[in-house]
Amino acid sequence: MSKLPNEAFRDTIGTIDEEGKRKFIFPKKPSGKFYDYRTWVSYFLLIILVANPFIKVNGNQFMMFNILERRFNIFGFPFWPQDFYIFVLFMIVGVVFVILFTVIFGRIFCGWICPQTIFLEMVFRRIEYWIEGDRGAQIRLSKQEWNAEKIRKKGIKWSIFLIISFGIANVFLAYLVGSDELIQMIEDGPETHTSTLIALSIFTGVFYFIFVWFREQVCIIACPYGRLQGVLLDNKSINVAYDFVRGEKETGRAKFSKQEDRATTGKGDCIDCKQCVNVCPTGIDIRNGTQLECVNCTACIDECDVIMESVGLQKGLIRYASEDEIEKKEPFKFTARMKGYSAILLILVGILTGLLFLRTEVEAVILRLPGQLFEHKGDNISNVYTYKVINKTNNDFKDIHFELVGIKGTLKLVGNQHLKVVKQGMSSGTMFIEINQYLLESDKTKLRIKVYDGNKKIETSTTSFLSPRSFD
Ligand code: SF4
Ligand code: SF4
Repeated sequence: MSKLPNEAFRDTIGTIDEEGKRKFIFPKKPSGKFYDYRTWVSYFLLIILVANPFIKVNGNQFMMFNILERRFNIFGFPFWPQDFYIFVLFMIVGVVFVILFTVIFGRIFCGWICPQTIFLEMVFRRIEYWIEGDRGAQIRLSKQEWNAEKIRKKGIKWSIFLIISFGIANVFLAYLVGSDELIQMIEDGPETHTSTLIALSIFTGVFYFIFVWFREQVCIIACPYGRLQGVLLDNKSINVAYDFVRGEKETGRAKFSKQEDRATTGKGDCIDCKQCVNVCPTGIDIRNGTQLECVNCTACIDECDVIMESVGLQKGLIRYASEDEIEKKEPFKFTARMKGYSAILLILVGILTGLLFLRTEVEAVILRLPGQLFEHKGDNISNVYTYKVINKTNNDFKDIHFELVGIKGTLKLVGNQHLKVVKQGMSSGTMFIEINQYLLESDKTKLRIKVYDGNKKIETSTTSFLSPRSFD
């Protein structure tokens, strides 16, 4: 099927040339109202991102994703493998929230919140502008011979990038293993933690590769969220968009001329200066419409506003708007799809809140040993169990013991009778329960067992007790 000539850009991505080679982007340094707002939002988020693993709530790290030990803290709530259903629900709520946000506000997450964009645009690229200069100077430098100036500038830039990548890798590690553990490892010195040092070097290498070379390719090629846009966006989603009705008018875009009265010529308001293209960090032309490469960074809005102001035309030729708003002049509407997603989100948040409140800080699981029935011990019947006590609090349990509720019997732990469970720890073992056979009313009795730490009841658990069908 033949393509319209102006649709040919959809056949390729802006950062790959006709031979399939990488086209390196040298975006113009953005400036303007939105860039200023984004700068402040980015600083705020960078502080949060770096501080998160070092903040403690009730002694718990605020955010931790310790995959190796299967311990996760979210907003200071510790999650154990037993709480995994809450963790999964948390993730689902996050995904629905992002979907809802995308349906309404397009890729606002990518431009304003995503750590990849924040680090690339607000940290690494700023350093690049500082060392190598703006777009023109960067292009000249990349084309020139490897002389002293180029070696010096590139050398300084790559060294700083390496140091920052190493810093990011350390923060990343603090999320993975916990900040206390990280600080301890730093104090111990690298020679005692060789495997961690290797992991840290790999993380540093990955971040360095991403921010020195791979850059916007993460958003275009690798990021699954970016690929989802085609499904989530519709004509009512708000995006960074070019007002093609105003920009093209009857005869299309055209260069600016001071001598002519543009309003009477039928020419569009776009003066084809291509500044919106030059400033774009993903190398696209927003005038071609919504494209998967666009991360909604708003740089083209700022740039076009400056141009419009300088030629005496109204700002907002590129702005946040939906396609229907531009084409049909329809104001923003809360559509049925948005209402549906909002309802699902509200329900999920409600369930999640309920589960968080119902979640206990102590978990005691007592299960009959698989394959074992019961044993006669005189008049008594004995069952054998395995138990597991999980302490999700930040206090040690020093004297754990169990008591049967509503029935007389003895309960004996194998080994030490004074069980200890350290904070954020777990103890497990085997126990025997003996009950006089004449007290049992059926062959399978439901038992309730209270778990105490000293005199304080910390949990009640249930299990079953097997006995013969008849005691005659
Ligand atoms: S910056 Fe504005 S005027 Fe210039 S090419 Fe882009 S849309 Fe047209
Ligand atoms: S088209 Fe505009 S908003 Fe989209 S990535 Fe390029 S500069 Fe940013």
